[in-house]
Amino acid sequence: MSAPIDPAKLEKLAEVAIKIGLQLQKGQDLVITSPVAALPLVRLLTKHAYVAGAGLVTTFYSDEESTLARYRHGSDESFDRAAGWLYEGMAKAYAQGAARLAIAGDNPMLLASEDPAKVSRANRANSAAYKPALEKISNFDINWNIISYPNPSWAKLVFPDMPEDEAVAKLADAIFAASRVDVADPVEAWRQHNANLARRSLWLNERRFSALHFTGPGTDLTVGLADGHEWHGGAAMANNGVVCNPNIPTEEVFTTPHALKVEGHVSSTKPLSHQGSLIDGIRVRFEGGRIIEAHAARGEAVLNKVLDTDEGARRLGEVALVPHSSPISASGVLFYNTLFDENASCHIALGQCYSKCFVNGASLSPEEIKAQGGNSSLIHIDWMIGSGETDIDGLDAAGNRVPVMRKGEWA
Ligand code: ZN
Ligand code: ZN
Repeated sequence: MSAPIDPAKLEKLAEVAIKIGLQLQKGQDLVITSPVAALPLVRLLTKHAYVAGAGLVTTFYSDEESTLARYRHGSDESFDRAAGWLYEGMAKAYAQGAARLAIAGDNPMLLASEDPAKVSRANRANSAAYKPALEKISNFDINWNIISYPNPSWAKLVFPDMPEDEAVAKLADAIFAASRVDVADPVEAWRQHNANLARRSLWLNERRFSALHFTGPGTDLTVGLADGHEWHGGAAMANNGVVCNPNIPTEEVFTTPHALKVEGHVSSTKPLSHQGSLIDGIRVRFEGGRIIEAHAARGEAVLNKVLDTDEGARRLGEVALVPHSSPISASGVLFYNTLFDENASCHIALGQCYSKCFVNGASLSPEEIKAQGGNSSLIHIDWMIGSGETDIDGLDAAGNRVPVMRKGEWA
């Protein structure tokens, strides 16, 4: 069998992840999580990590067949449990200074035919157990990065009409293009891209909008912004002082909405793949920041279970702007993977906010963040609401309107 994935580009992805994504520091430990299929990428990452002076590199692997075995043969009680000891260990590693690298690539539809009640119980148990480790990441205490690998099962979902080899090669190329590693000097390309995103964030921060008004087919939504919110995009400094690029790819500038000040209705513009299920054609209505009505053409039961996770699951924790002409959107590929699809479109996220999206966010207590309108929840789920027909106005405190986007592009 010929190797369908270009080894030179895979090596560049590994190099960009370590140098730009993580800016891994000399002597810093690294925790990697990866599907077993991505072993070739893990080996390259491990090499580049040690070349960069890593302390210890430790990888935890997951496997689709083993996950399915649990759903098919695991005892009913086991679905309320999670490997808390593992997450406690990860939280400890991060507290002691380790960086974190996640490789995404599992089949997003893996659990689509499993019992939704079990899926939701397992997700809930996992979210609760993962919280101490996840907080180090959502609080941006450490440098972290997520990249992707074209698992064959994912590739077959994205390109169902192709033989597996061709589908993997095509998804690999799409990942390399979106991750900006298919150019001569990817590290320099990322420097320029980061400078562009920083310019957009600066413009939005200078405007000090109090709300954004989204209009488009099936959408008339006013998203109030949190008091003292701050826009971010591209590279950013973690609380440990390391400037990193958490998401590769990334095209978004994003901030924190006000948990109590979202009004109107909004429709999704792309399917949302959520932990093995597909939710499509979402239509929700907000009142006082809370979703009071939720429908989906597909996956409505999963959506409603997600919304019932906790009180904060019905409120927004993120609003993000992405031009419709972004390379991922222009590729026309639906990845069924939030890391890519959220970067093809303006989006909002249900659940937990990012404390870094506040002025002096790192020094604010959870109570202060809440008082400024920041939401808290066990979940953070992005879904896409932008298209080539989306218009966005910024509203300032005096009620003046400033065009921000027209027909999906920066105004
Ligand atoms: Zn986002
Ligand atoms: Zn998000």
